[in-house]
Amino acid sequence: MADYWQRLLSSLYPSSPHCPSCGRVLFDRNHIICPKCAPFVFAEAPAYCKVCGCAMRGGDVCKICYENTYLYERGVSMLIYNRYTRPIIHSIKYNNNTDLAYRLGALLSIDILRKTDILHKVDVIVPIPLAPLRYEQRGYNQAQYIAEGLASATSKPVEACALQKIRETADQIGLSRLEREDNLRDSFATVSSVIKNKNVLLIDDVLTTGATVQACTKALREGGCNKVYFAVIASSLH
Ligand SMILES: [Zn+2]
Ligand SMILES: [Zn+2]
Repeated sequence: MADYWQRLLSSLYPSSPHCPSCGRVLFDRNHIICPKCAPFVFAEAPAYCKVCGCAMRGGDVCKICYENTYLYERGVSMLIYNRYTRPIIHSIKYNNNTDLAYRLGALLSIDILRKTDILHKVDVIVPIPLAPLRYEQRGYNQAQYIAEGLASATSKPVEACALQKIRETADQIGLSRLEREDNLRDSFATVSSVIKNKNVLLIDDVLTTGATVQACTKALREGGCNKVYFAVIASSLH
């Protein structure tokens, strides 16, 4: 029955925005998530890793950060990647929902401020770039819209061209952390001096194993930047 009403509403209001989590029509244009999904989408995790910022069931540092040393300083992750947030990430990644990416980026600023003092330390915001072919296929980089949304709320500049992906890499899905690191080796490069001696905040949609952030941090450090922090919209619960 609920499906019937949803289909009816969707046909009556075809141009209305829909909740990216459940697909219901959003009647309030100020909402980005419907009131039914919001408590699940923005659910607080029991704990967050003090290094990478991933959501955790408890403790101070996640297993991956406990066992590895990274070049970056620390990270923040706003949402838990689960069945409520997966469609949201899909929407900003593949459905051209750049407005949602921008608005989530603005919300990310509040989350970073709530959890850390990173925003007081960074000078520039750098979105993690897509490989040129991927960018051409998709037509946009979702991380850039998240970064622009974050910049609108913080007045920190976005340097979208400072870092580039210089070679295509195989899909990371199904690869272990070490395989991902190997796959991404030397695939990013700093191509501008604008980040020289600056503290950089890297932005991406999802944190999986941290291999991408690590590869980007290495490239930024080789390009002469000072410290690297990062923030993502979602990460899996560890
Ligand atoms: Zn919803
Ligand atoms: Zn961690």
